[in-house]
Amino acid sequence: MDTIIPNPISQKIDELWTEEIVFLQEISRFPSVSGKEKALQAYIADYLISELNMDVDRFTPDIKEIANHPGFSPPEWGYEESDVVIAKQAGPTTPIGKSLIFQGHVDVVSPEPTSLWSSDPWVPIFRDGKMYGRGVADMKAGITAMIFAYKAIISAGYKPGADFMIQSVVDEERTGNGALATLNKGYTADGALIPEPFGLKAAKAQVGSLWFRINIDTALKDKNINQVVNAVERSQLIISALQEYEKLMNERPKHDAFKDMPHPVDINIGRFHAGDFPSNVPVKAVMEGRVGLYPGQSINAVKKELREWVLEAADEDPWLSKQPPEITFFGFHAEGVEMDDQSPFFKTLDDAHETVLQQPAERNVLSSTTDARFFNLYYDTPATCYGPEGGNFHEIDEWVDLDSVKQVTKVYAEFLSQWCGLIPRHS
Ligand SMILES: [Zn+2]
Repeated sequence: MDTIIPNPISQKIDELWTEEIVFLQEISRFPSVSGKEKALQAYIADYLISELNMDVDRFTPDIKEIANHPGFSPPEWGYEESDVVIAKQAGPTTPIGKSLIFQGHVDVVSPEPTSLWSSDPWVPIFRDGKMYGRGVADMKAGITAMIFAYKAIISAGYKPGADFMIQSVVDEERTGNGALATLNKGYTADGALIPEPFGLKAAKAQVGSLWFRINIDTALKDKNINQVVNAVERSQLIISALQEYEKLMNERPKHDAFKDMPHPVDINIGRFHAGDFPSNVPVKAVMEGRVGLYPGQSINAVKKELREWVLEAADEDPWLSKQPPEITFFGFHAEGVEMDDQSPFFKTLDDAHETVLQQPAERNVLSSTTDARFFNLYYDTPATCYGPEGGNFHEIDEWVDLDSVKQVTKVYAEFLSQWCGLIPRHS
């Protein structure tokens, strides 16, 4: 199909632009850190029902239903304050195109330390064509763009010529279980676009991510040894071992999709707790972190290797060898994925990009995980991330470029027009 975006839709996006920005600002005020998404989800569900007249389902991810799924990540938290919102627009009985999902996550990472921000992370502000605030890029601007792409189509008097869904999911930043629970319930389609903020480039591969926890306990159980050993000081050995392991991983032959990246698979130690008083010797230390893995690498193989690496280092230490650190895994158990970027799905996206931006489409490879993996790996559904330009995700002063948000809105409208086909709204 070589449908050119009907001008009325592009014009509608221009007309609705102020409203779109206000919507982005509104949803960015919700402090929807992972596990606390409910209030924002209620707002979005209400908007999709009242403004877009969609059929909306809401449900809380049920761990029991997905616990045996190969894409499952074991959480150490509940989903009482996290519900998924699915908005549907049924296509005609005889569709003229393929069915489609626009998917985005509403959860964001902690803005701490907030004192370092130039302004309140929950009060989005405009400066030089950008919006600043926690989650504005990752990924509330994308959610806004996908909703307004659909809104513009409806406002211009059209509707999708096949089944269409907006999925607003939760807990993407720690597990992806919101997206998994959604697909597992049968909310699937012939393709899915996720507007993660990677600068108007379609992702053709992404690494996996596995979370680990290492407990160091130097309170020796052998009562005959009457000596206290500092767990913080012993931790240095474990940190060095992890750094060595990271170096080794990146010296190995790289997965083809990541060959131009200097450090595709990283280890990050993100949390460290030990001790409680300056004059006391700490006998317990806990570190938590994340290790990356290539597409095709198994989670279990990486677990085994990381465990061996840490235990070998511990074995060389007189104290840690007596009471080796305990290594466990929780949260992200995300496999890496490589997409077929020559598929009709990618071709349609390239076409939509070129139509709107009048520039050749580009590709991206991601050194982080996204929900796109579930569609590709477990549901045989082409999916990728394509979203606005932003920066400082998961950091201080997160921002999104507003012109790029409008461009993404237009590309999504164009993609929907081509992929699903359009029919008059009142038919
Ligand atoms: Zn994201």
